[in-house]
Amino acid sequence: MERWIDFSRDRRMLCGACGHQWRSDLDWIDRWEQGGEKCPGCGLTCEHEDAPRVTVDPDEPALDDDWVVTVSWYHTSTQPDWPRRDFDPAAVLTAETRMRMGGDERVAAWAARQRAKALHIGTYEAAVHNMLRRIRDQADRGSQFYLFRVHLRPSVVVREGWLVDPSDFVGDVVLDEVCPPGVGVARYLDYHEDPGGLSLALGREAIAGVQQVPVPLPDAWDADWVREAALALEAASDAPVPAAGKPARFVRPASPRVVLGRELAAALAGRLPVNLRDQFTSTAAFAEGDGPVRWARRTSALLDLIGNPTGVLSALGKAEQRQV
Ligand SMILES: [Zn+2]
Repeated sequence: MERWIDFSRDRRMLCGACGHQWRSDLDWIDRWEQGGEKCPGCGLTCEHEDAPRVTVDPDEPALDDDWVVTVSWYHTSTQPDWPRRDFDPAAVLTAETRMRMGGDERVAAWAARQRAKALHIGTYEAAVHNMLRRIRDQADRGSQFYLFRVHLRPSVVVREGWLVDPSDFVGDVVLDEVCPPGVGVARYLDYHEDPGGLSLALGREAIAGVQQVPVPLPDAWDADWVREAALALEAASDAPVPAAGKPARFVRPASPRVVLGRELAAALAGRLPVNLRDQFTSTAAFAEGDGPVRWARRTSALLDLIGNPTGVLSALGKAEQRQV
């Protein structure tokens, strides 16, 4: 069963000071985050500790346990075989890193903590938000991402109610702390990805199977836009021009091609909901040396993930289901 995908849907807000609840559109929340709006109940602005935040909508379908176990959930990862059964986080460490971490015993304890972490799944929107954030934060720029559709075991026990986003500052949740014995998944209010939605923290055992496709899909681009963007980029010089009046050591010179590529990405971003624009612009940023055709195809396909989810859902529908 699929949930209706809507990146632009209104969010439920809750003021921590006066308890007022209301629905807001994303533009209001954007103005609010910049100090341009006040709580309609008490007039508090966003700088206050008790300031209003997104909360779970009472009409949220994932509040129903039966719905949670039958609907499709999503996850993005750079691991094509997520969630790995014999996951050994220490396998990639060099001898030098192991030594720096304090030797084999320390490394083993660290690896055990890594394995004790909960997995996270959420709405399709949350999975896309997560991927854009990871690419923007640079660590995963250039990595191949995969989108997973996750099917839970029908018998899995859902923890009652929902938790406030339990992630620590690096986004980690210890499974045992959120899913006591006998409980397979815990709902939590997500503040970071698809804010205001319910995501799930869970162990691998709660998952029956996954389907996977590489994202962005390799052929899901708008041919007209790609042709025009690539022609314009090829016509623009790729020789860096120092910014007028500023010494090159302060401002890295950019070529007209790079400047144009960034303008093209910003124009596409303008079609998206306001809470995705910055992430999209920086994810799609044209870099010196990028190939115009390749960049245009990838950027158009990235937009398609948000603007036309039916394409990727249909590709997922054809993907083989892997038992977990
Ligand atoms: Zn208030």
